[in-house]
Amino acid sequence: MVDSREAGVQEDLKSQLFMSDSGIHGKGVYTRDFIQQGRLVIHCRGIERHKDEIVEGMRAMQIGPETYLAEDPDHPGLDDFINHSCNPNVGFLDGSLRFFALKDIQPGEELFWDYSTTMNEEGWEIPCGCGAPNCRGKIQSFCDLASEHKDRLRGIVLGYLR
Ligand SMILES: [Zn+2]
Repeated sequence: MVDSREAGVQEDLKSQLFMSDSGIHGKGVYTRDFIQQGRLVIHCRGIERHKDEIVEGMRAMQIGPETYLAEDPDHPGLDDFINHSCNPNVGFLDGSLRFFALKDIQPGEELFWDYSTTMNEEGWEIPCGCGAPNCRGKIQSFCDLASEHKDRLRGIVLGYLR
């Protein structure tokens, strides 16, 4: 796991984020203050589990061929509630489990990441209604994306997909 207490590691912005009803789906995560492009926004935290331990309804993201990062029921994190968009404003710029701002984000804006930047189970897909002009219509695993999308997302996928 990433340890933000290491010397020289930039603090994340967890304290200025809040949860509210999403414009797109259920609850979402918003920023109270302006976030500059390139800024570290939040570490993804949770419990590492083998993919066989992931059950329906569990909030979890794939972080390796056989491994998921699942929510910790005792310590739910805001990172578990960030919604998908095909036009995300946060992403894994350095391949580690940390969201960075992909563009300037204004106060009150909802945060979004692209689920295809972590998922890699062949055949997995869910419909997408994110409303972005470049919406792909469905959210798919990275391995199932057309090469134009893979190329576009390559710089914000998790390390294991690079
Ligand atoms: Zn979409």
